[in-house]
Amino acid sequence: MKYISTRGRAPALNFEQVLLAGLATDGGLYVPETLPTFDRDDITAMASMDYPQLAQTIIAPFVEDCIPAADLTVLIEDTYAEFRHNAVAPMVQLAANQWLLELFHGPTLAFKDFALQLLGRLLDYVLERRHSKIVIMGATSGDTGSAAIEGCKRCKNIDIYILHPHQRVSEVQRRQMTTVAGDNIHNLAIEGNFDDCQAMVKASFADQGFLLQDRSLVAVNSINWARIMAQIVYYFYAGVALGAPSRSVAFSVPTGNFGDIFAGYLARQMGLPVERLIIATNHNDVLHRVMSHGRDDRQELRHSLSPSMDITVSSNFERLLFDLYERDGQAIADLMHRFDNGEIVFSEAAMARARGLFSSQCVSDLQTCDQIAATWKECGYLLDPHSAIGVKAALESSISPEIPIVTLATAHPAKFPLAIEKAGLSIKPQLPLHLQDLFERPERFQVLANELSTVHAFMTGTISH
Ligand SMILES: *Cc1c(COP(=O)(O)O)cnc(C)c1O
Repeated sequence: MKYISTRGRAPALNFEQVLLAGLATDGGLYVPETLPTFDRDDITAMASMDYPQLAQTIIAPFVEDCIPAADLTVLIEDTYAEFRHNAVAPMVQLAANQWLLELFHGPTLAFKDFALQLLGRLLDYVLERRHSKIVIMGATSGDTGSAAIEGCKRCKNIDIYILHPHQRVSEVQRRQMTTVAGDNIHNLAIEGNFDDCQAMVKASFADQGFLLQDRSLVAVNSINWARIMAQIVYYFYAGVALGAPSRSVAFSVPTGNFGDIFAGYLARQMGLPVERLIIATNHNDVLHRVMSHGRDDRQELRHSLSPSMDITVSSNFERLLFDLYERDGQAIADLMHRFDNGEIVFSEAAMARARGLFSSQCVSDLQTCDQIAATWKECGYLLDPHSAIGVKAALESSISPEIPIVTLATAHPAKFPLAIEKAGLSIKPQLPLHLQDLFERPERFQVLANELSTVHAFMTGTISH
């Protein structure tokens, strides 16, 4: 399979190249040139598959010219064996036709494990074959960092550097990063804020001269295609469990960078009957404003009780735009250029296409807390704040009552105790068994000045040989 850039100018790549590439050289994001599709019979057959078998079925066509099927099976089985529920992604029913898809049974208790556990293994597999090593560098305000570290901790060919703003991530999130042992794992606590961390990562990618000759940086944020690919699987898993291909399903997705919900869009393009995709945002509601008014303007970031969705620029939205503009790379390049200068107004035709499948809902912190309290009272089920935003948006939607709505439960409630306290509940959510001693484990991190040269010096002094 070939992958092409959303901005139309970068060369097409194969899967292995795209895995290692990050952004395309023209500034765009890679998408498959064509999608594999599954017909009614294919989807019916999925009903008898367990999660790893389904993952193999969905992922194989995307990687087949680079990874032999037998090797892919091993990578996928290893990946999902790390999950602590036999179903991998179990479903819970909250009300008639209201469902939750629990995506937090992986090592770090957030849905990012689905992709990053696989990504680490895919990277190590191709690096081993190429006899090369890479450096992963990323900035995190929480979930991505820990999932990336867990995903790469056993990778012999990867040094991983995760920058987080010193004293500005939650203690659970920090400890999930800093208690993972391994000589190839480096937690850098930067004396600055998240934007400072991200700016340093961006600058490092732009000029990689500070690395050793034979190394390059690889991105593990959701611009990496492999992450999106891995997330398509659970849409099929839920859809088939609720009656696809005979029955359509809707999904409500707590959204930040638009990676997770874009995977839902791809599932639909590949044949899954998806009635609607609900973009659920917190008060950083850029996507809700795009859907409502057809324009995208920059706004200040406002911290919320759902920090993993505190985003003002949803980079994966560009992947959807590429399709909404009938895959016209030049049109996307022009749009993004205008965005850099302030504001984009989308065409009526593009917005009409978007609204045919997507709807959106913005949920405030207050509504998030109310939803946590209501679901606890009505169902005895404790939602994390991100999932609560999804449930609220699902309940507010105007989807006809015979369509099941699946809300993606993206994190375990024990990761975000503050929201539960603010919801007025006196219960203290327990960390699952494998993390119960998290607060006793030794931590390892390096506090560094908010200065690019300091970070680079630290990195060059610690990269493995
Ligand atoms: C990352 C994250 C999200 C947002 O996912 P996107 O792919 O960025 O839209 C939602 N909830 C949780 C818990 C997350 O960690």
